[in-house]
Amino acid sequence: GQVISLTFYAMITPVNATVSTLQIQLYIITAIMILAAVAIALVLSDVIAKPLVGLNDRAKKLSKGNYNADFIASGYLEVKELSDTLNSTAIELSKVDELRRQLIANISHDLRTPLALIYSYAEMMQDFPDEITTTQVQTIMSETRRLSSLVNDILDVSKLETGAMELHMYHYNLTESIGETVARLSELLKNDGYSIVFQHSEDVYVTADEAKITQAFYNLLTNAVNYSSEDRHITVTQSREQKSVRIEVLDHGEGIAQENIPYIWDRYYKVDKKHKRAITGTGLGLSIVKKIFELHGACYGVESELGKGSVFWFQLEIQ
Ligand code: ADP
Repeated sequence: GQVISLTFYAMITPVNATVSTLQIQLYIITAIMILAAVAIALVLSDVIAKPLVGLNDRAKKLSKGNYNADFIASGYLEVKELSDTLNSTAIELSKVDELRRQLIANISHDLRTPLALIYSYAEMMQDFPDEITTTQVQTIMSETRRLSSLVNDILDVSKLETGAMELHMYHYNLTESIGETVARLSELLKNDGYSIVFQHSEDVYVTADEAKITQAFYNLLTNAVNYSSEDRHITVTQSREQKSVRIEVLDHGEGIAQENIPYIWDRYYKVDKKHKRAITGTGLGLSIVKKIFELHGACYGVESELGKGSVFWFQLEIQ
């Protein structure tokens, strides 16, 4: 019995010592681990959350219309990407805002002038009812026409911009359609000494939105009329290429300087602003033309020489 109990004690003592050593070690390790976890959490939150907090502050400014909120690209890759995205968003938003301001300024200027003219002529007619002249009446009429064409152009532009303008594509006789537009405008302008000739051989069918293509072509044709000088001959040509048909509108007018050509398709761009008032122009015509051809995926362009005239052209695919 003694031997057994001795052995028992001898074995218990080292086990106890080991257990307590292990326990202490476990406490120390746990403490170290907790400290390390806290430290890592602090570092991580600093790396992840801090740049996000900064981005959020700037995004709040951006939402209030401060487009200069510069998003600083710091932190890890995703945060850098996010701040780059936000930066480009801010730039795009500021561009849109600038365009909107310009558009409103232009529109209100264009609306104010004819309205003031109409008002002053109407006032004169009220004050001197016996002295009403045809010029006064004509001015009122032409200014009213200017206003309504401006309002129509603005509506078209905004429809095209918001994407509300859908294409209603169908197969139709382009030659016949162009011919009708030419005939309609010739009839309107024949007393002003304009001659518009349509040169074509065969009838060509295309799949497109007839109303929109007609509108674009009409804009090109009225521009040719508006910018004609003494020579009032305008030629419209239809020529067939392998898989497409090309329509050209040629005038012998004032032409466009090479350096201005890239800008004429922009909204509200007019080469000569002083001269323009005499002619009914809104500066929106070619931007509508551009949108329509882009919606169709059609090629279009202009060749022009100052003092000699211009050729505006577009090309539609034949299926
Ligand atoms: P507008 O209403 O002023 O005619 P557009 O957008 O149709 O506006 O044209 C923009 C500008 O391009 C015009 O102001 C004019 O300076 C120039 N332009 C357009 N068509 C012609 C042309 N056939 N000949 C000369 N200049 C042209």
